[in-house]
Amino acid sequence: MRLVFLGAPGVGKGTQADKVVAHYCICKISTGDLLREAVRNQTPLGLEAKGYMDRGGLVPDSVVIGLVREKLADSSNASGFILDGFPRTVPQAEALTKVLNERGVRLDRVINFEVSREEIVRRLSGRRGCPNCKATYHVDFAPSKMGSACERCGEALTQRSDDQPEAIEMRLRVYEEQTAPLISFYEKQHVLSHLNGAETVDTVSQKSLTDVGDTPDGMIILKTPAEIEVMAQASRVVAEALDIVRKAVQPGITTEELDSIAEQEIRLRGALPAFKGYRNYPRTLCASVNDQVVHGIPSKRKLKEGDIIGLDLGAIVGGFYGDSAVTVAVGSVSDATEKLVQVTKEALHLGITQARVGNRLADISHAVQQHVAWYPTGVDAHHEGDGTDEFCV
Ligand code: AMP
Repeated sequence: MRLVFLGAPGVGKGTQADKVVAHYCICKISTGDLLREAVRNQTPLGLEAKGYMDRGGLVPDSVVIGLVREKLADSSNASGFILDGFPRTVPQAEALTKVLNERGVRLDRVINFEVSREEIVRRLSGRRGCPNCKATYHVDFAPSKMGSACERCGEALTQRSDDQPEAIEMRLRVYEEQTAPLISFYEKQHVLSHLNGAETVDTVSQKSLTDVGDTPDGMIILKTPAEIEVMAQASRVVAEALDIVRKAVQPGITTEELDSIAEQEIRLRGALPAFKGYRNYPRTLCASVNDQVVHGIPSKRKLKEGDIIGLDLGAIVGGFYGDSAVTVAVGSVSDATEKLVQVTKEALHLGITQARVGNRLADISHAVQQHVAWYPTGVDAHHEGDGTDEFCV
């Protein structure tokens, strides 16, 4: 699950992100927290950022993008994340799309928290924090029982320098000018939903959890024309790469060499191999020789005249998968083998004719089954495709 929490400073993104993170066991990446930590530790980045932050301005895009890129590379974020306070400008949002594309993933949802300006000013100007144990308070809504000291550890409470009136004004102006345009940026990508952040923390939490959970994995989401174009692009990459691998098939070549060609051709086209790393699968290509039914792992095995090989390849472009398979004869093969390849191909095309609106997947496999039924070897009844265009005879 990959989420962005969007909204002006003080709308409660961080508070809600903490709750969703705990619920879904994903990571929170807050650029505000990361920058404050850098300032506290007086790192070069912190020293550069401090001036901008104290005034309520934005830290330069290049600095923040570098920070987020580094965090996203961290494997602990593999199962998902919430970005809190990033992106804040259109160039940051574009950089985020690029980083995610490089990883073959995309955002599932962007939630825009909405709160009136007066309420934001009230929330930010009354906010206090404990520099020691990090407990947070509000002078009106959640005061410390010990007045200006932390009720947990007794340390004197402090106010963030950017919660001073002039800095708040500046932050809200910066939000309107630079961050608010992201609402239409994400609206166009059909991933945006709005949440009223003015209700109680618990009500907002309930709604954010529901909203985030609205599109659980496995639900079919109607794709936009732009997304369909990316899917087509992923399929084109696979078709081109598979064609090159197919032409490289000849006696003496190893399945490992075919795998290298496949990976190189996919990467050359700016895509990612879809199978490599999926459930620890070690290769780009599935290369199944002769009686191997599917998912043969490329190895040092050399192809021989008369073999047949199933080549199955997948590529990811912009988070979308293209996947295709083909069966190829190695050199000249026996009549029976040639017939097998030919019948398989015919069956596949008959199956494709059944891929029509209103039909079921079973209509596709039925068409395949019927065509191959007369053939002595028969169809493998237990494997009628993995959801793509692959059939086994
Ligand atoms: P926050 O805690 O999210 O309100 O962030 C505090 C301050 O950190 C902001 O007022 C900015 O100065 C800086 N900051 C946080 N995130 C970003 C970002 N994505 N781009 C630029 N500056 C940021």
